[in-house]
Amino acid sequence: METAEIARRFLTFFENNGHTVVPSASLIAEDPTLLLVNAGMVPFKPYFLGQRTPPYDRATSAQKCVRTIDIDEVGKTSRHASFFQMLGNFSFGDYFKEQAIPFAWELLTRPVGEGGFGFDAEKLWVTVFHDDDEAETLWRERVGVPAERIQRRGMADNFWSMGVPGPCGPCSEIYYDRGPEYGRDGGPIADENRYLEVWNLVFMQFERGPGSGKDDFPILGELPSKNIDTGMGLERMAALLQGVDNIYETDTLGRILDRAATLTGVKYGDHERSDVSLRVIADHVRTATMLVSDGVKPGNEKRGYVLRRILRRSIRNLRLLSGDDVFFMHDLTDTAIQAMGGLYPELASSADMIHNVIDAEEKNFADTLRSGTTLFNRAAQRTKAGGGTVLSGDDAFRLHDTYGFPIDLTLEMAAEQGLSVDENTFRDLMNRQRETGKRDARLKKLGNADISTYARLLETSGATAFLGYTDQESEARVL
Ligand code: ATP
Ligand code: MG
Ligand code: MG
Ligand code: MG
Repeated sequence: METAEIARRFLTFFENNGHTVVPSASLIAEDPTLLLVNAGMVPFKPYFLGQRTPPYDRATSAQKCVRTIDIDEVGKTSRHASFFQMLGNFSFGDYFKEQAIPFAWELLTRPVGEGGFGFDAEKLWVTVFHDDDEAETLWRERVGVPAERIQRRGMADNFWSMGVPGPCGPCSEIYYDRGPEYGRDGGPIADENRYLEVWNLVFMQFERGPGSGKDDFPILGELPSKNIDTGMGLERMAALLQGVDNIYETDTLGRILDRAATLTGVKYGDHERSDVSLRVIADHVRTATMLVSDGVKPGNEKRGYVLRRILRRSIRNLRLLSGDDVFFMHDLTDTAIQAMGGLYPELASSADMIHNVIDAEEKNFADTLRSGTTLFNRAAQRTKAGGGTVLSGDDAFRLHDTYGFPIDLTLEMAAEQGLSVDENTFRDLMNRQRETGKRDARLKKLGNADISTYARLLETSGATAFLGYTDQESEARVL
């Protein structure tokens, strides 16, 4: 079943059950607490919180999502993409668990000839939040899932939150057993590769508020009403319904992967290392295409930085496979536009703009690499010749300062040569440079008046301690 057909079936099923079909929102989140939309519920957040009155009680959508937190998994697991599409059905104070659970089961197990996905009920497993007896009873009694295929999990897995302040609640997930050739027995608790998570039903009931620090969003209390938010991974469904091993081999990502293999002359399936590169390239080219289409431009902070890192990572992987000075991004972007065009017709009309942005970044990065790679190689050779395994912080700093190498690029290139990097010294040097810059700016502002005071101050207080990564740097580390 083609990806576009899977989306169509999902939306039609819920439309026929009284849901309004809502088009995907832009990846650029309206929500100021998020950089990019990372789940289907994001555009509906004000409805769940009771801040706005929804124009409908039930909605369904296929939402574009980007999860920077999953970027490191891309190409290594069978199921994580940096851009993916989440199919969802939503209830705003209308139905709750008693209906969300049977809806999900019906759509998954209804025969293909009758508008469903035709899954074998015996291959489906479910999880519930550890104290959610109500959900477990519904699965057993209303749907007929045997107790041995229902597992209970705690906060980390079965309590869904946005990662920022917002609605949250216990959830119940549905997994498909791909069989012993994919891993161990024992259900999703034992093996999330063999048991592939396809759908998460969230019982949105509570609210998390701003906390005292990062990642600390305490539960404030109950929401004004009990809601449903579900998320089904379109790419994961495509992998199952197309009988392929992972999401990178489906009809959309697979086309980009095949094109990358042709352009680089590397055969997919030959070596695990080059396979990972091909999957990263396919994923990142598609993500970049979708981000640029929604108006993101490469830059040095926030969304622009996410895009820049993703583009540069795909370009580096292309060069790892076929050597320096290849320029394949235009061709691959074309393939991505075609592969995604069925679901997103707007891609074709903005193709010129997308190409201009991506081609310019490729050229820009090629210049950076050309000038910095010689210095990098020399530093790496020197380190190894001295029997070392750590590239010095001074070298990393010089690469940054003179050639504009972001630290992540240096880390990645070093890792390829079996080296680590003295990041602490690198950060110290960066901080020192920042302090000098600030002092110079202050002195400039004051003319030459009383420079000695500042000199003394610096002497007595010393260099400023490192207080943590800036937003941009922590985002970069995620990448
Ligand atoms: P996982 O545990 O596999 O990382 P998750 O629990 O983080 O997934 P949810 O937040 O529950 O995912 O998102 C709802 C659904 O979206 C998942 O059940 C899955 O089908 C899909 N999904 C989540 N993350 C990704 C991703 N990075 N790539 C593709 N699909 C995804
Ligand atoms: Mg996840
Ligand atoms: Mg999960
Ligand atoms: Mg989940």
